[in-house]
Amino acid sequence: MSTLDMSALVSIEHISQDFGQTKALDDVSLAIQPGSYTVLLGPSGSGKTTLLSILGGFLQPSAGRVLIGGADCTGMAPAKRPTATVFQDYALFPHMSVGSNVAFGLRMRGIAKAERLARALDMLRLVGLDQAFDNKPHQLSGGQRQRVALARALVVEPAVLLLDEPLGALDLKLRRQMQDELKAIQKRVGTAFVHVTHDQEEAMALADHIVVMNNGRIEDQGLPDRVYGRPATRFTATFMGESTILAGSVEGKGRIRTALGVFEVAGDIASPEIHVAIRPEHVQLGGDILAIVTHVVYQGSFKRVTAVPNGAPDIHLLARLPADSPVSVDMPVSLGIDPDRLIILAR
Ligand code: ATP
Repeated sequence: MSTLDMSALVSIEHISQDFGQTKALDDVSLAIQPGSYTVLLGPSGSGKTTLLSILGGFLQPSAGRVLIGGADCTGMAPAKRPTATVFQDYALFPHMSVGSNVAFGLRMRGIAKAERLARALDMLRLVGLDQAFDNKPHQLSGGQRQRVALARALVVEPAVLLLDEPLGALDLKLRRQMQDELKAIQKRVGTAFVHVTHDQEEAMALADHIVVMNNGRIEDQGLPDRVYGRPATRFTATFMGESTILAGSVEGKGRIRTALGVFEVAGDIASPEIHVAIRPEHVQLGGDILAIVTHVVYQGSFKRVTAVPNGAPDIHLLARLPADSPVSVDMPVSLGIDPDRLIILAR
């Protein structure tokens, strides 16, 4: 990642944020590309909302700067910069109609009434709510209110749309449905979206670019399948989905010794002492690891199985097995791991 990325729409350069003794952000640099869907993902307290607030101009950073379209926006008020924000609680005006809510930002910008109502209607059509133009927000469902908030933010044609846990208040089913809609709307309007969440499934469903945050720093970033499949750090491997982590030592080219035996992997490994992360979907029934099943959770389309290998009582090997797999608690099983799918991490 370079802070000199000339193609970037937004350049976040060496941002730090101190709150008394707390370092909420510690020298964060990030480039956001035009038309991209960037998701800031991380556990509670990792600094996601602080970074979004600095992007939106709601917070002045202790150090560093923010450039949008090449212009330094660091000290600029929220209303002056080319960003708009969708908050988790939607913040709609209850006494105004849906149409007036959406047109509000245009009114603030002095756009004439006929034009702002026409643009508000177009935007409501885009989110599939033009029929609700004259309704009041309380007459809408949570998902519909979220779409009004989205239309209200997009109508002012921001260069960057900032979304802070926008689906946090919705139930799981609606949340998944709104993820599909958000992604489709983003592709249609082509605006760069920056979306904060702590839900890794949501991040993978939406992002072109995932930024994993931990303790005020960027831990890893890239395409969702790269960040999930080849995480750069142990933190990312455990935060993005589940995995079993083993200590390993490298015994010559591509040979790794672990408590589960020796694995031969392709390519050189830089350091002699490593960690190996094993995704549950890369563990199968059949193989030379003998183990006893300790937990089975039926999850509808698969079984989530934990097994303790013979001679390695500290290891709880997680496996995602087909739903009809004949496994039950206390049963001896033999398991196999595809060595090409092992994730090698520096220790
Ligand atoms: P969450 O998912 O819980 O919202 P987050 O990743 O968005 O978490 P932030 O809200 O950015 O995290 O907080 C990062 C750190 O900064 C935390 O330790 C938090 O307690 C602290 N912090 C955030 N805002 C303030 C503030 N206004 N005053 C003092 N400390 C703050």
